[in-house]
Amino acid sequence: MNIIVCIKQVPNTTDVRIDPVTNTLIRDGVESVINPFDAYAIEEAVRLKERCGGKVTAVTMGPPQAETALKEAIGLGCDEAVLVSDRKFAGSDTWATSYTLACAIEKLEAYDVIICGKQASDGDTAQVGPGISTHLDIPQVTYVKKIVEINDKSARVERMTEEGYDVVEVPLPCLFTVVKEINTPRMPSLKGMMRAKSAKIAKWTAADLDADPAALGLDGSPTRVVKIFTPEARKGGEMISGSTDEVAKELVELLKGEVV
Ligand SMILES: Cc1cc2nc3c(=O)[nH]c(=O)nc-3n(C[C@H](O)[C@H](O)[C@H](O)COP(=O)(O)OP(=O)(O)OC[C@H]3O[C@@H](n4cnc5c(N)ncnc54)[C@H](O)[C@@H]3O)c2cc1C
Repeated sequence: MNIIVCIKQVPNTTDVRIDPVTNTLIRDGVESVINPFDAYAIEEAVRLKERCGGKVTAVTMGPPQAETALKEAIGLGCDEAVLVSDRKFAGSDTWATSYTLACAIEKLEAYDVIICGKQASDGDTAQVGPGISTHLDIPQVTYVKKIVEINDKSARVERMTEEGYDVVEVPLPCLFTVVKEINTPRMPSLKGMMRAKSAKIAKWTAADLDADPAALGLDGSPTRVVKIFTPEARKGGEMISGSTDEVAKELVELLKGEVV
């Protein structure tokens, strides 16, 4: 089974700072790590390989330093890795990002399953996984919490919902985005770390992809970040106490005051 896992390198902080002028992330001075949700994607990809045989290829689009994330992925059990990196990709929104990743995936040998994290901890849109499957015209199942059965033709998975979970059957090739409930990621083994150290990471630029140049980077991005801001913290609520009748009466009076 050929499994592809898409990983993103993100700042290692929950305090994401935005440049107020350019509206882009401030990355200087912030350590980068594999997006926490992608650790579950890597683990599931490696478990799938252990279950069905085959290989796992990790793919990332990012700056040259994203190679570190790919080496880490190899240390965790991925077999091969591809860094898709070019200044031409700068300014990509989620549409252009998923198009570029889809073009890279098409360049790899035929795949059975693509696994993404549920969302990235910095951009947070959860759009890239579904975007890749749309560009590749393959089915997708999001929020997967368990791969129950899988063979070379189809898979049966559990997909998390707010009320519980759906059981979904899907033909392969397909794309899954996974939630953290799916597994417990392993630590890198000593052997894995040694392999990672000497691993050769393939590096592809825009010229290596069979991509429409007009669909890449800022030019290929139909959305623009107009403003990014942290919403003001809400003031604490007001507690009303008393019997149900008293509370209801006071609430009605308060609401009347609001609408006048
Ligand atoms: C108009 C616009 C301009 C932007 N300009 C820039 C810019 O100049 N520089 C910049 O760094 N960002 C830029 N961004 C942000 C960029 O679009 C997102 O970082 C990127 O598309 C991923 O979206 P996300 O973080 O919401 O990921 P999500 O959709 O939340 O991620 C879901 C999953 O998709 C996969 N994934 C996501 N991104 C990647 C990736 N790069 N490689 C491999 N797998 C991935 C992972 O499995 C991840 O768990 C811009 C966004 C917009 C809207």
